[in-house]
Amino acid sequence: AIDERVTISAYSESKDATRKFNLNILNDLAESLNQQRGLYLVFQPKVILSTRKIIGAEALLRWQHPTLGEIQPDAFIPIAESTSLIKLLTEFVIARSVLEAKRLRQQGINIPISINISANNFAEPDFAEKLDYLVRDGGLQPQDIEIECLETQRILESTEALACVKALRQMGYAIALDDFGTGYSNLNYLRNIPADLIKIDRSLIENLKSDNDSRIIVESLIKMLHMLNYAVLAEGVEDRETLKYLEQYQCDIIQGYFYSPPMTLERLMSLIAAEKNG
Ligand code: C2E
Ligand code: CA
Ligand code: CA
Ligand code: CA
Repeated sequence: AIDERVTISAYSESKDATRKFNLNILNDLAESLNQQRGLYLVFQPKVILSTRKIIGAEALLRWQHPTLGEIQPDAFIPIAESTSLIKLLTEFVIARSVLEAKRLRQQGINIPISINISANNFAEPDFAEKLDYLVRDGGLQPQDIEIECLETQRILESTEALACVKALRQMGYAIALDDFGTGYSNLNYLRNIPADLIKIDRSLIENLKSDNDSRIIVESLIKMLHMLNYAVLAEGVEDRETLKYLEQYQCDIIQGYFYSPPMTLERLMSLIAAEKNG
């Protein structure tokens, strides 16, 4: 019985510690946003598989914490998503992405920047109008920005969020469904949410090399998505062998360390310049 009590108290202490850690993270994140310090974007190219041409780039958030160093988005975005701080964070990402997309245009580079948007953002009143305002006020058009929907399941569960995605697509923004094949995502939900591009999650892609069942799943998935008229992107392509399978299955677009990791906008611009000259 004593052992049990010890375990329980250790458990609630660790829950306390987590809560405290999360609160600290939220405070520090709010502070970084406020001061516009430590938060920045990196960009990962999206590449047409058949031509190896860069057709877009995904904006990924980075945070240099004042004392803890670099913190991965997986460690702070879910915490922000559970509060209203995600609104400010997303506003920051949109504003920054618009600025960076404008810098690309000034270099004559016309690829869209993809932005990750959570279910809570879509559910916010007037989110579509706000995003559209930021884009147009920055001198850009809807086709300059692509929207990656995170947490598709949660979007489908919210009438407001779903209406927002539909409105954005009506306005001319391309819609991508992120992390397809994870969680409770199922094929039937595709009929309820409008989208142009489906991003097959890395967890499916990373098993292509080692597992025949995964190959069957991914191949059939791509075939089916094509029949439904979606463009298909494979996430997390890390090596040539995986790439070979995806070529065989006629996947449209790839993203991953094999081609390129996320990088600064400057590096992306020189990569694209080198592509043009080569
Ligand atoms: P995601 O949208 O699925 O982004 C892909 C993640 O996979 C990125 O991690 C990227 O750096 C990583 N990645 C790309 N290629 C490879 C590869 O070949 N191998 C491996 N192992 N990983 C690869 P990152 O940047 O740490 O972001 C993690 C997640 O955090 C994102 O997953 C997204 O859900 C979220 N996130 C990132 N930036 C934002 C943002 O601005 N707003 C929101 N709401 N969420 C964001
Ligand atoms: Ca994404
Ligand atoms: Ca993803
Ligand atoms: Ca992911």
